[in-house]
Amino acid sequence: GIEINDLHLSFGETEVLTGVNLDIQPGEFFAFLGPSGSGKSTLLRSIAGFGPTPQGSIRIGGRDVVNLPPWKRNVGMVFQSYALWPHMSVRDNVGFGLKERKMPASEIAPKVDAALELVGLTHLADRMPNQLSGGQQQRIALARTVVVEPEVLLLDEPLSNLDASLRVQMRRELLALQRKLGLTTIFVTHDQEEANTTADRMAVLDKGVIQQIGTPQVLYDTPENLFVAEFLGTAN
Ligand code: ATP
Ligand code: MG
Repeated sequence: GIEINDLHLSFGETEVLTGVNLDIQPGEFFAFLGPSGSGKSTLLRSIAGFGPTPQGSIRIGGRDVVNLPPWKRNVGMVFQSYALWPHMSVRDNVGFGLKERKMPASEIAPKVDAALELVGLTHLADRMPNQLSGGQQQRIALARTVVVEPEVLLLDEPLSNLDASLRVQMRRELLALQRKLGLTTIFVTHDQEEANTTADRMAVLDKGVIQQIGTPQVLYDTPENLFVAEFLGTAN
């Protein structure tokens, strides 16, 4: 799981995370909602180890990772822009992280095959990224992230570039993959329905502070404050 205690992070004079506490269970699918600029991406990036070092503690599988570089954290992150390497084939994109870890090619190949099979795109292994649709690129980004067998999967609005019907399909696939691999997952989304239909629990963030944590049902039925009620549209 992921345990975050009293996390603070500032850019210059501006404090963007102002004391975040969070306890995510192993294998949990946890969604983050909140207005633009509330600190969702900053929080995910802090967990992944990108950007400035925050104050406070972040534990992954019981290990404090705040001072570890990204590749030692056992974390995979998928961004809104899939950022596949344009000059590399699908196969090489998916295998890139393993190659970086100095894994021999003979061991990389079967792992890449398995990851491509997981997202159902074995037949596209030799394509270049610009020969793929948005949904296919998104699946490849996911395969590239899970191939290194992370313990934690961080998803920063990974479906927001897709059209509405593909989004619904992809979120089902994403959830199925997450369950199959038992990944502890944080999913940032602007889409409340997406959060409601996927999350075991969710949190609403505002100005770097978690306003409420609970199951989607609890947040909708019993918002703890006016901000949560208004943000989720349940105020009356
Ligand atoms: P969105 O929903 O629009 O993606 P967000 O909740 O992900 O928003 P963040 O990207 O975490 O928000 O940004 C939180 C705040 O931190 C914003 O005010 C943003 O301008 C600021 N910020 C983010 N990155 C930096 C940076 N590298 N330098 C300075 N300020 C930054
Ligand atoms: Mg963001």
